[in-house]
Amino acid sequence: MAGKPLADCPNCSQLAANTYDDLMDGSRPHDAIVALLGFPPPGGAGTVCCPTCGTLYEFEYDCGFMEHDISLRRISPTEAGAPIDVERCTAELAHANADTRDYAALCLASHHVARDDHGAVIELLRHDDATVKIRSIVTVIYSKCDVRPYLAAFIELLFDADPSVRGNAARIAHYHMAVLRECRAEILDGLKRQAGDGPLPPDAASLLADLR
Ligand SMILES: [Zn+2]
Repeated sequence: MAGKPLADCPNCSQLAANTYDDLMDGSRPHDAIVALLGFPPPGGAGTVCCPTCGTLYEFEYDCGFMEHDISLRRISPTEAGAPIDVERCTAELAHANADTRDYAALCLASHHVARDDHGAVIELLRHDDATVKIRSIVTVIYSKCDVRPYLAAFIELLFDADPSVRGNAARIAHYHMAVLRECRAEILDGLKRQAGDGPLPPDAASLLADLR
């Protein structure tokens, strides 16, 4: 990972975390996609690294009869089996641009989750910035890791001031219900402690209802 922040890259600043383009009629994809993959793009799937900013993408180009779909998804160095610049990513968590913070959080969360560095993951989940929190939450949920060490942090996140943070934290129930049921007593305790005398926020209440 070398180069400038994603926000200052003429290619990556034009692309979303997930980009999709339909090249029906042999049309050219977005210039930023051409800069990364060339034209015509290679058929099939693979990974590509932006030469300007070092952002990594997984791409897929389905080219067949009536099908010319191209998709790119930002991936972390950990997912790509590439080295990570932890210092650079940590600095970019405080960048003014939300997309840059989002990618830095993906890179760091993915790295720390893979190494079972629970303290570092929890620090990201408790970060001040909602963009960093949400990307870290989603990375933990999708990583298929053991979520037990993160349950206390997730309970806190169900009470976050930001509704998007609360909603994303509640998605843990869809993907890790078996573990949540096993840790039911701990979760009930945590929710009670966090709520105090007040009511449970809707996301926490619905998670609790699912656990019963
Ligand atoms: Zn770039």
